[in-house]
Order: sequence, then C-alpha cells, then structure tokens
Amino acid sequence: MSELYQHRARKRFGQNFLHDAGVIHRILRAIHARSGEHVVEIGPGQGALTEGLLGSGAKLDVIELDKDLLPLLQMRFGIDPNFTLNAGDALKFDFNSLVADGNKLRVVGNLPYNISTPLIFHLLEHAAIIEDMHFMLQKEVVERLAATPGGGDWGRLSIMVQYHCRVEHLFNVGPGAFNPPPKVESAIVRLVPHAVLPHPAKDHRLLERVVREAFNQRRKTLRNTLKQLLDAQAIEAAGVDGSLRPEQLDLAAFVRLADQLALQTAPE
Ligand code: SAM
Repeated sequence: MSELYQHRARKRFGQNFLHDAGVIHRILRAIHARSGEHVVEIGPGQGALTEGLLGSGAKLDVIELDKDLLPLLQMRFGIDPNFTLNAGDALKFDFNSLVADGNKLRVVGNLPYNISTPLIFHLLEHAAIIEDMHFMLQKEVVERLAATPGGGDWGRLSIMVQYHCRVEHLFNVGPGAFNPPPKVESAIVRLVPHAVLPHPAKDHRLLERVVREAFNQRRKTLRNTLKQLLDAQAIEAAGVDGSLRPEQLDLAAFVRLADQLALQTAPE
C-alpha cells in the first residue's frame, strides 16, 4: 500500500481488501490468465488481484464504483497499455461494449457481498460473451450455487445458475485473509457458461417464473405451490410427481414444467 495514500475501507461498498499473499496467489493460479486473453475485474479495490492479473500479459478492464480508489488504481497501473479503468457500477455496466475485439471475456472479482447475487444474474444475461467467471463470495452463497437436488441449499440461485453454467466450488478462504476481516467465511467459485445448454427451456423466463413460484413456499408440495401456474394434469404431463417438494426436483424436471407452461401460454 502506498505511503502517499491511505484508504479507509467503506462498508457501504462492501470493502474487505485481500492482504494474504498466499491466498492471492492461489486465486491467481486458479484463474490462470494468459497473454492474449481479455480479463474483466469487478471491484479491483486497491489492486490486490489486479497486479497479478496484469502481470499475466492479459488485456485487463477493471470496473470500480468507489471514486476515491480511482486515482490510486490509475497511479499504480495506468502506465500499462493493457490496463483500462472503468469508473462506475458493475450492475449497470454494458459488458457487450468490451467484446469489440471478438475475444470472450474472463470475468473475475472479490465481490462485494451485498451485490453478488444480482451481479451474477446480470452477468448470466451476457453468458454468450463470457468464457468463464471466478468469484470470491460468501461461502454460503457458493454452497447454494454448487448445490445438488435434495438438500436445503438447492433453490432458485442453484437452478438458474446451473441452467447457464457449470459450477465448481474451488476452495474456502477464512476471514483473516482480508482487511477488515468479514464476519463470514468466504469461498472461490468458478462458473463456466455451457457452450450448449444441457436442458434448454422453450422460454427461460417461464423457467424463472416456475422456479420462483415453486420455492416461494419450499415446504409445500409442487401441486400446492404451482397451482396458480399449472394444474395437476399439466404437472403430470411434465412427468413430475406433484406430491414432491420443490427441493426434490432436478433442473431437467423444472425445465419440463416450464415447457408445459409454455404450451399453455402459446397462442392458439
Ligand atoms: N479486489 C479487491 C481485493 O480483493 O482486495 C477489493 C475487494 S472488495 C471485497 C470489493 C470492491 O468492489 C471494492 O473495491 C468496492 O469499492 C467495489 N465495489 C463495490 N460495489 C461495486 C459495484 N457495484 N461495482 C463495481 N465495484 C464495486
């Protein structure tokens, strides 16, 4: 950290800065950026990961919301021709604007925990232009992302992310690796958008609707939770047992339910 500049971590920007060199190296090794690639770092902060990412020779765009951090980032990395600083909110950022060179994006970030779920949903809308994503998240969120059917972690987040991506829970990181330390355990996750969707829905918005409705009351049977959308006959036509609870269904079964809904809503 520069002696010329002391930044006080801000809670409202979810600032927990990485300072453990071992953890930083482990994350950089997992990402394994290479020259010729196009990496996008969300929330570079004081540059803990930025330095190693740039060192790989990859082209690097960073997106930082906290205006107070911009001079520091520009001072540390501005001289590198591969570095571009984008000031603003990653939730509103148009990722399409970065793919003019035809290269898919590798998105990385030690994410502010308060925006991680909406940010992942925002990025899934751009899945076609993303090679992969590596994020530091709350461990509990990573467990939900990587969950399998049947358990309490399986829900809307698991299903919608696994619809688009392969999910790998890489490793856990304790609070001591950060300054200030967060109150929760963290973990690194890798998300790789499928080249071909394994279970494509006729309309993925209907999948979202069925999943949201089903998990609104996760302890009830599907027959009950879905009654506004699908009757018992339609559930049966999807090959689903209506007496099950939503957490017992896998992604393929939710897609079949969404496709039944698509049949019902299709114009005559
Ligand atoms: N990457 C740094 C590190 O590992 O030390 C900082 C990580 S800190 C958990 C999160 C960073 O994201 C902060 O720099 C914060 O200012 C920034 N940030 C918060 N909300 C953001 C947003 N909506 N868009 C872009 N950056 C954001």
